[in-house]
Amino acid sequence: MASVSTGSRPSTWQGAGAAEFDLRSDTMTKPTPAMLEAICQTTLLDDVFGEDPVTNDLEAYVAERTQHESALLVMSGTMGNQVAIRTHLKEPPYSVLCDHRSHIICYEAGGVSSLTGATVMTIAPKNGTYLTLEEVQKRAVISDNIHYCPTKLISLENTLDGMVMPLTEARRITEWAHQNDIKVHLDGARLWEAVASGAGSLSDYTTLFDSVSLCFSKGLGAPIGSIIVGSKDFIKKARWFRKSIGGGVRQAGVIAAAARIAIEETFGPDPHGQQGKLLESHKKAKRVADMWTSRGGKLANPVDTNMIWLDAESSGLVPDDLTRIGQEKGLKLGGSRIVVHYRKFSPFTHAGGWMDGC
Ligand SMILES: *Cc1c(COP(=O)(O)O)cnc(C)c1O
Repeated sequence: MASVSTGSRPSTWQGAGAAEFDLRSDTMTKPTPAMLEAICQTTLLDDVFGEDPVTNDLEAYVAERTQHESALLVMSGTMGNQVAIRTHLKEPPYSVLCDHRSHIICYEAGGVSSLTGATVMTIAPKNGTYLTLEEVQKRAVISDNIHYCPTKLISLENTLDGMVMPLTEARRITEWAHQNDIKVHLDGARLWEAVASGAGSLSDYTTLFDSVSLCFSKGLGAPIGSIIVGSKDFIKKARWFRKSIGGGVRQAGVIAAAARIAIEETFGPDPHGQQGKLLESHKKAKRVADMWTSRGGKLANPVDTNMIWLDAESSGLVPDDLTRIGQEKGLKLGGSRIVVHYRKFSPFTHAGGWMDGC
């Protein structure tokens, strides 16, 4: 394990810390010592000039692993989605079709409408987990009737709230969209998790889409950064939009260096993510879910990856119960979602004895 000295004080990134006991979100993951080491060794040339080797290498590496022509480092998943969506939409009238729970509409500060002016149309999938082609076909607008707003982009999300969209359905939707001249973006902030769950390889998914955004700072543990992939022309244009919203940064190597380790170490070298650290967190999530259900608790969603959604209402929990119980046991919990991540935290051995004996 790399050991990094930060002057006379040890780095607060190393050893056990707040992240181990914080199960509110996978954004709580902390960088590993190898990431800190990589940041110390990185290059510091200007990425707005396109001259930083570590950033350029990261973009080439992700393009290769996702089998797209090109890639662009961005500061956050939100920036990745918004830049990609803006880049796809050429001239009005246009509308974007997505799941009603999509991050792009629920958690990105209204970016789609303010940055593109697109009408957003949503679908609530009947199966409760992912959209189907039939639902997309029913809602998409393919018409030159002057009353309607044509669907120019479908934005899918995988995982969505920790739930996997099967490869077969993603393929059906993208094939149909492409036959109908509709672009498809994947919000793959957590695609790593879908892949590690065994749903398909990274490139099985990424090659279906015109663009994909992927996050480094969620379950993968990098401190900052996301990336979008697409064709050469798409990324060239996206670079423009990234700059326009302040996302062109100079010494991007400090971000790219840790992101590279996040992929290699946390997701792992193999295309199915079986050699990294994510699989372990999925097993842990299943155990947590089992403990909950074996005590009569209900789940609101299937546990496909690292998230456990408790059905609070039918389990008799009132809104702040989980937070309060967590506090008593030395854990940060919030809402009715428990997110397990790769750091050493174990609900089974934690000193507070939360879920002891299970
Ligand atoms: C976290 C997340 C994002 C973007 O998050 P940022 O906080 O902007 O990095 C986008 N989509 C999904 C599905 C996410 O989980």
